[in-house]
Amino acid sequence: MKFATKVIHAGIEPDISSGAIMTPIFQTSTYVQQSVGVHKGFEYARTQNPTRNVLQNQLAALENGNFGISFASGLAATDAIIKLLKSGDHIISCNDLYGGTYRIFNKIYGKLGIQSTFVDMNTIQNISDAITPNTKLIWVETPTNPMLNLVDIEAVVKIAKQHNILVCVDNTFASPYLQTPLDLGADIVIHSATKYLGGHSDVIHGAIVVKDKAIADELYFIQNASGAVPGPQDCFLILRGIKTLHLRVQRACENAQKIADFLVAHPKVEKVNYPGLSTHPSHELAKKQMRGFGAMVSFSLKADTLAAADKVLSSTKLFSLAESLGGVESLIGHPATMTHASIPLEERKKTGVVDSLIRLSIGVEDADDLIADLEQALNA
Ligand SMILES: *Cc1c(COP(=O)(O)O)cnc(C)c1O
Repeated sequence: MKFATKVIHAGIEPDISSGAIMTPIFQTSTYVQQSVGVHKGFEYARTQNPTRNVLQNQLAALENGNFGISFASGLAATDAIIKLLKSGDHIISCNDLYGGTYRIFNKIYGKLGIQSTFVDMNTIQNISDAITPNTKLIWVETPTNPMLNLVDIEAVVKIAKQHNILVCVDNTFASPYLQTPLDLGADIVIHSATKYLGGHSDVIHGAIVVKDKAIADELYFIQNASGAVPGPQDCFLILRGIKTLHLRVQRACENAQKIADFLVAHPKVEKVNYPGLSTHPSHELAKKQMRGFGAMVSFSLKADTLAAADKVLSSTKLFSLAESLGGVESLIGHPATMTHASIPLEERKKTGVVDSLIRLSIGVEDADDLIADLEQALNA
C-alpha cells in the first residue's frame, strides 16, 4: 500500500458490533468477562483499549514498522524508551536536541545513573569518539530545532551496529510522510504526535514504532507497567488527524519553500535556514534521506537584536506567536527567549541561535497571504 492509501486504510476496520466506518471512542476503563479468564482480549483499559489498538496499528504501518506503542505525550514515549536501559548505561545524543528531551535525559535519568553525552552529529566521528562500553542508545533528532540541520541516519546506524547499540530517531519534525527512519536501519522511531500526526493543535500524544518483536514486547510492558497511556478520545483525534497527514504536509512544504525563497530575497533578512535551499549545509543529505524538505523555517535579521525580532514577532497577523508546531495554522516563535531560553548566551550563539533568530512553523494557508503577512511584519 502506498502512503496516501495507508493513512486512510491501514489497520482500520469497520467496527464489528455496529459497522461504524470510523473507529469508535471506547470510553471504558474495564471489560466484562464471560467467566474467569475468558474474555475478548480486553481486561483493563491501561493495558488494552480498542481505539488505541487501531491507532497503534496505523502508526506501525505509516513508519514501515511492525509494532506501534502509544503514549500520553511525546515525552512519556521518550521516558518509556529510556526505561529500556538500566542504571550505569550511557546515551549519546545530538547537541541541538528538543529542550524537553535534554531535560529528561539530564535532570531525570542523570540522577538515576543513566548518563548522557551530547555531541554535534554533523561530524559522525564525534559519535565514535563518545562511545563507551556502556553506551546502549544513540538518540538522533533530524531535522533539528531551530537550525534545521540534518543528521545522516544511515551513517549513525552503521557505527551503532558495529557496537551493538540501539538507534532511536525522533521523527517529529519530518513526519513519516517525509522520512521513515526504520527503512534506514534505525531500531526505534519516536514522535511527538502532538505535532504533524495530530496536525490540528488540539491534542498531546506520543508514539513509538519498532520492527523488532522483543523490543516491542518490552515497550508494551513499560506502557502498561509505568502507565503513561493516552485516553481513547486522544487516540481518536490522532487517527482523525492522520487521515490528512499527506495532504497537510505536502501543502505546508510547498508553502515553506515559497516563504524561504521570499525571505532569502528580503533586504532585512540576514540568513534563512531551510533544507530546501541549495545553500543549506544539509541540502544534499535532505534530498537523499527525506521525500521533501519539511515545513519548518528559521531566519535571522540583519539587525541582530531582541528588539528587532520582537517587532516582527508582535506584528504578524496570520502567524500566531506560540510554542509548538505542525498544526494547520502557521506559528511564529523566538527560540532565544522561548524554546532555548535556558541555554547560556554564548552556547546559544555558537549553534546559531542568535538574538534575532525567528522560527516559523508553516501551515496550510494560502502562501501569498502568509508572505504578505511576513512582508508587512518585516517592514513594521
Ligand atoms: C514537542 C516535541 C517533543 C515532546 O513532545 P510532547 O508531545 O510535547 O511531550 C519531542 N520532540 C520534539 C522534536 C518535539 O517537537
